[in-house]
Amino acid sequence: MDIGIDLGTANTLLYARGQGIVLNEPSVVAVQEGSRHALAVGTEAKETIGRTPGSITAIRPLRDGVISDYEAAEEMIRHFVRKAVPGRRRPRTRMVVCVPSGVTQVERRAIVHASLSAGARAVHLIEEPMAAAIGAGLPVSDPRGSMVVDIGGGTTEVAVISLGGIVTAQSLRVGGDRLDAAITDFVRKEHSLLIGERTAEDVKVAIGTAWPVPGEEEREGRTFTVRGREKVSGLPRTVELTVPEVRAALDEPVEAIIAAVRVTLEECPPELSGDVMEHGIVLTGGGALLPGLDLRMASATGIPVFVADEPLDCVALGSGRCVEDFDGLQRVLGKAETVR
Ligand code: ADP
Ligand code: MG
Repeated sequence: MDIGIDLGTANTLLYARGQGIVLNEPSVVAVQEGSRHALAVGTEAKETIGRTPGSITAIRPLRDGVISDYEAAEEMIRHFVRKAVPGRRRPRTRMVVCVPSGVTQVERRAIVHASLSAGARAVHLIEEPMAAAIGAGLPVSDPRGSMVVDIGGGTTEVAVISLGGIVTAQSLRVGGDRLDAAITDFVRKEHSLLIGERTAEDVKVAIGTAWPVPGEEEREGRTFTVRGREKVSGLPRTVELTVPEVRAALDEPVEAIIAAVRVTLEECPPELSGDVMEHGIVLTGGGALLPGLDLRMASATGIPVFVADEPLDCVALGSGRCVEDFDGLQRVLGKAETVR
């Protein structure tokens, strides 16, 4: 069975030919210290973050968009493929694996190696922004510039695509994790409260915004209560956070994402940036779900911005399109290294 893999810094998705997305789990591995033995992978392992006893560590093998832990990454891929693909079909599997546009040759080889050891017969690597654009339904093969901004957990990838290739791209290490960290820092400084990264993510998803959204003024009055540890006394305490203060907390990383979009537009050949002006920018990845990010980016660039349907699934669906049509998308897959 042929499969597509979106190996994300936050979530890994598997697409099986003829079936669609068959697996969607956090990119987390819980290991026993010393032995390196994986105790849990995926959803089960994410539950352990911040709650593990000293001897168990929850690892995110791709944390900053690069493979920070090879062994754990390999273990994770193997585990997910085994879970999604029946054993007797695995030896014939061709895999299309999406990698961040910034990965090094060594990392590419590590991903190919991990995929082969997970049972693949052939491995094609495809750049993430390309997969995101295909999954978002952009006409990537046309002689027309399309801009996609994929905001993941560890990285944001900004790319302009035309004629099946990436014309110009930026990969920055600012994504959902940095938004979470900005909330953690804000709560520590302004409220003297220490909160965990899971809590910060909960705050972001519940009441985070990048810009006030017209027609949704009701949101501005919402609050979210967080539980943490008082910095000085060390005792548990709760604090009520408001929408405007969380927006202020997110300001810096949000501006960094918008700045990367501006730089990419500046580097883009004029004909293609004209196309982008006309057709707009498309946002994918979990960060695209932050309310008001599209409006703020549109206001900052003067270009219409659209959030893709199901932004969290775009990269997996794009890799899926390649899996369904290896020949038709050979042009996109052409530069990928294939191992037989
Ligand atoms: P990756 O491709 O790096 O695995 P994803 O595209 O899966 O990343 O996106 C994961 C990120 O999206 C996480 O940082 C998560 O907190 C964030 N996210 C998910 N839902 C929302 C939401 N509703 N609002 C803001 N951020 C969100
Ligand atoms: Mg992604």
